[in-house]
Order: sequence, then structure tokens, then C-alpha cells
Amino acid sequence: MRTSLLAFGLTAALLPSGAFAQHRVVLQGNGRLVVLSADGKADWEMPWGAIHDLHMLPNGNLMVQRGSSEVVEIEPTTQRVVWSYDSATRGGNAEKKVEVHSFQPLPSGNVLIAESGPGRLIEVDRLGRIQREIALKLDRPHPHTDTRLVRQLDGGNVLVAHEGDGVVREYEGATGKVVWEYDVPMFGKDPEGGHGPDAFGDKCFAAERLANGNTLVATGNGHSLIEVTPGGEIAWSLQQDDLEGIRLAWVTTIQVLANGNYVLGNCHAGKGQPLLIELEPKTKKVVWTLDRFDDFGNSVSNSLVVDDGPDAELHARARRIHRKAVTLDTHKDISTTLASPDIPEDPAEAERARLRNDPTVWGTNQVDFPKMVAGGLDVAFYIVYVGQGALDEEGFALARTQALAKFDAIERMAKRYPEHIEIAHSADDVERIAKAGKLVACIGIENGYAMGTDLSAIEEFHRRGARYMSLTHNRHSQLGDSNTPPSSPLHGGLSELGRRAIEEMNRVGIMVDISHAGEVTSLQAIAHSKAPVIASHSGVDGIFKHGRNLSDAELLALKENGGVIQCVAFASYVKDLSDRIKFIAKTRKELGLPVQRRRSQAVDTSPETQAKMKALRERMQAFDATYDDSSVRHFADHIDYAVKLIGIDHVAISSDFDGGGGVLGWNDASETYNVTLELVRRGYSDEDIMKLWSGNTLRVLRAVEEVAAKSR
Ligand SMILES: [Zn+2]
Repeated sequence: MRTSLLAFGLTAALLPSGAFAQHRVVLQGNGRLVVLSADGKADWEMPWGAIHDLHMLPNGNLMVQRGSSEVVEIEPTTQRVVWSYDSATRGGNAEKKVEVHSFQPLPSGNVLIAESGPGRLIEVDRLGRIQREIALKLDRPHPHTDTRLVRQLDGGNVLVAHEGDGVVREYEGATGKVVWEYDVPMFGKDPEGGHGPDAFGDKCFAAERLANGNTLVATGNGHSLIEVTPGGEIAWSLQQDDLEGIRLAWVTTIQVLANGNYVLGNCHAGKGQPLLIELEPKTKKVVWTLDRFDDFGNSVSNSLVVDDGPDAELHARARRIHRKAVTLDTHKDISTTLASPDIPEDPAEAERARLRNDPTVWGTNQVDFPKMVAGGLDVAFYIVYVGQGALDEEGFALARTQALAKFDAIERMAKRYPEHIEIAHSADDVERIAKAGKLVACIGIENGYAMGTDLSAIEEFHRRGARYMSLTHNRHSQLGDSNTPPSSPLHGGLSELGRRAIEEMNRVGIMVDISHAGEVTSLQAIAHSKAPVIASHSGVDGIFKHGRNLSDAELLALKENGGVIQCVAFASYVKDLSDRIKFIAKTRKELGLPVQRRRSQAVDTSPETQAKMKALRERMQAFDATYDDSSVRHFADHIDYAVKLIGIDHVAISSDFDGGGGVLGWNDASETYNVTLELVRRGYSDEDIMKLWSGNTLRVLRAVEEVAAKSR
């Protein structure tokens, strides 16, 4: 019955007052943080204390605060806090009284935080470093009331509801200058204490800039919503008793929906009053209420309608698929200090080491546990990489040592953090561990140089967990010719040892990886392997011709062989960026900077050079503002091309994170959802996306396991 009424577009106002929701809503009340589905059921919830602000990120993660000063991001499936910033202990606030009543995730990934007490707005990056600071103008500074909600506007200015002052101020984003302010009126009434509908004041709670340039202000204990012109005239208002059967109390959050309706929070209004009200502003007709006093109590101050906006349905679908899929990235580089227990004595060095080596903190690598959880990345192939050296006994011995150190690092990580991650030794393992709610580490070897001429090393590597090995990296190896950089062939494709190595990989159950190999090497390897082959991190020449990308001939051979290309989100393989590189070189020359600083050269800290570097950064910022940089969109073009040429069963996904990979929109593991979103946008089905994320790679791994089992 309900469904049919809704299907005919009748509004909830015609139904028993607000008995159920027509919106998906997030709110906190009575010790629960809850996502209510459109039919009013709690779709998701977790125990959580009172909040002051509330956001949902595009991937569905929630940003709220814990206690009075810590901003946190929660991944809803695992209910884990994946990121946090505590204003009470950081940013020089240790000795101060601080409360945080508002914050906002910005498109850059940074977070804007309003600090009441210190009286400032800060923008912090995900490592908690302050990138911008705006001093608030305060008539009556107080750690509890400096601000209520704070919102960055599209142009970069920031609109602040100053609760204690009863004033809304707009700050210029770059300079922090107050460019507009509005003193919320008392409407000729006397102030009255308390919180309910009989209290009165001008403690404004929220302000929103409307499309017409006016500002909508929720007056808090003024029990009203007012629309104010830039000149400070009230163009429209909704007063305490304007809505039939509803008495406004503390008017808190406001949300302007895509259809122009307003949703307002009606906090402390008492039993029998709705918590949320949607109204059509012109007619002041109530079209929806959320009447859940019994469930959520009298103090629901923040709420968010989350089924609104042009992309709401797209996101709903992408989030559902992203949760369902086992997401697997076939290439994530590591350093040998991963999970190292050694902590340098110098505090600054110790902090740098922690951010680099401790996988349990949101650190400086593109992949760590919090970023994987935040982005819903379930599985990564951790890479045992060795750089190409001399093809002699000394070189081989050194490479073997380096490779073993990386195996050690991955093992150390799994041993130190068994509650977070486990090493998978088979396709079944991957699925079992992911199902158990843990992150999954697989191991791949980048550059068969590591085995030297010792075929028995392959079995040893397999025993240590390796499930793929590439034949080459940059420059020719003892196993075959490389594609990068272009040079005259050494073996004319695979070497004889390369053929033996492939046979041994087939025998023990290691996938043969042709990424980095020359075209002739690749085609010979595919022909020689008894099991399907992968290209663990390569793009396609059909979109951008590059030594690291696969030709159509290689792709077609992969298809024939039952193999998979894991398209890589590596900016300079995805798209031609030579114009940007030329611009950097040209600008450096103009500024009198060396074209590139050598690693061995010390950083020049002279004021003159620092000024030139600043000028370079500014010119690059201006250049990048209009530059069509490598993005998830361009990356998905490679996937599309490969799927069209060889079919959905032969394509997968990789990042090359911490090895130079990353594109705009997928620049670390926390942004993994954007890949799924782009695939949904392009019309891939649930099944297709699950194949791309892990189905195809695991199918190849199973086929390789089978070939190995048969040769035993
Ligand atoms: Zn590579």
C-alpha cells in the first residue's frame, strides 16, 4: 500500500504524520549513529556518542567527530575509524581548551576544521599537517560557542555561523579577510535561557549560500529560518509557528535539496514534534517529516539527507558493487623497511619512519591498512622488486639478497599485524581471508633477475609466497629482452634460461608476468607457457603507445592463452604527458633552476633558490589548473579498449602504488572507490566489475594452480 501511494507521487504529508521516511537519512541520537533507509528502517548503525557535524563522503564513508575535539572518518562496512585528527592534541593546541563543532571534507581530500577556543579554521591534509589557517573574528570568544557549522563555498570562501556572537561571517578563503557579515536579529524579543521552544536567542547554527546569492540562516534558538540578501535584508523567513501542527525549537542543520526544497533540523523540540522537516519554500508546504522522537530522542542536532543530488543513484549502485566485489590490485611496491620495528632516536626521524614503515597508520605511502580499509581495497600484491643490475654472478647474488629482504618485510608485516592482514597462498585463500574481514596480501616478484641462473630459486620463491614473477624490468635480464628503454635485443626475445624458468614457474604454480618485457619476449613467453599468463601492470598501445604498454598482438595472444592484462593507473603510461614535462623543463630553465636535481645532490636551501622553487610551484599550479592530467577517466579508457579488443574475461586492474603509480582520482588506496564509480558510469554490469576487480586474476591463478598440480 505504502509503495503504491509513493509510486503515484503522493507526499508523506498526506499520510499519517511522518510515520516513515521518504529519504535516506544519516543522523545520531540516543547513542547511535544510524543510516535510515527510505522506508525508515535502520539500514546501518553503530554505537556512537553525540556529534556536532556530519558528512558522507562519495564512497559512503562517514565523517563525524568523537568526543569534543577529534574529527574521524568511519568506514561503514567494517565500522572502523580509518582516519582521525584531534584538535586537542595537535596543531599547537596542547595547552588550550578546544572544541570542534564543525568540519568539512574538501574535494582535495584535505579537511577543514573549525576550532572553537583557539578561534581559528584550519585546513589539514590527511597526515594532519596544517595547510591553511584562518583566524576567526570573535566578539565573544568561547571554546564552546565560537562556531557552529562552517562551510566552504564553491569559490573557496568560508561561511561561518558564529553561535556565541549571533553573527554569520563570510571569510575570504585565501586571505581570511571578513568579506560579509550578518548580525542575526532578536526580532524585538528578549533573550530567554534554556534549550526548548520557549528559550530564545540569536545563537545561529548554520548558514548556506543559495544559488541566487542570498544566504539562508538557521537561527538556532531564534526558532527560525531566514533568507538574507547580501545587503542584509530579510527576503524570506520561516518563523516558529508558521507550519501547521509544528513548533520550531532549536533550528539546526539546513540542507537545500536539488529540487529547491529545504530540510531543516528541529532539535530540542520535545515529544510529538518532528526531528526533521522538508518544506517547499515558496508555499511553506511541509512535504516530509522525520518523526522519530521515540527512537532518537530530543537532541538530534545534525542530520543529512543522502539520497539527493544528480549522482545519488549512480553512487548508490557503485557503493553496493564496491562492497560486494573483492577488490584486488596486482601491483603495490614496498620498501625493505616495511613493518620494521626499528625507531630512530631523533623524534622527527622517528615520526617520518613511523609514517613510512608502520602499515597501521595513515602514512606517507600510497597503500597502508587505513587507506585500504577507507577505500575498500581488499587485496594487494605486495611486490618483491629488484632493479636490473649486471648479468654476472655478483649481480645475481646481490639481487637474490635484495629479493629475500623484501620477502622478509612482507612476512614481518603479516606476523606483526595478524589481526589486520594475512598472506594468501592460493586463490581460495584470497577469498577466505577477504570473507573473514581481513586485508589480503599476495606476493609478486618484479624482475626474474632475482633468481639469477638458479632455477631452484623459483621453488624457493614459491614457498615464500610468490605467485607471479615478471621476466624483466627496465633493461634486458638473463631471462629475456625488455621493452624499456628501447635498445637492441640481447637474446632476440626469451633466452634459453627464460624458457626453462617459465617451465619451472608452470611446474611450481607461479604466474608468468610479461609486464616490462619486450614484445617478442612476451609473445614467445605466452606461446611457451602451459598456463595462462598475466601482464601485471601495463596499459595498452591502442590508447597511448608506450614501451610499458601492450600492443594489440600481445593482447590478442593473451586472450588466446586465457590470460589477463591488469591495466595500470600509472600517469605517464596512461596518457601522453610530454607537454607538461616540456613545460616544467622550460620553466625551470627560465627561472635559472637546474632541469632536474640529482638524487645525490644536496637540497639547495639558499633563499634565492627557495624563492625560485616557490615561483616554480606557482607556475605549475597555474599550468595544472587547466591541464587535462592523467585521471581515472583516462585510465578507464585503457580498460575499455582492452575489453573491446579481447573481452571482459581478460582484463583487470592495478595501480603500481608506491612504485610511481597513481592518477588523479586514484592516487592512493583510499580512493579505490573512484575506479568502481567510473566503471559503473561507463555501463559495466555488477558481474563485469567483479571480474575486472578480481574474478579474472583469480581465475588465472587457479588455472596456474591446476597446471602445477598436474605436474606434481
Ligand atoms: Zn613496474
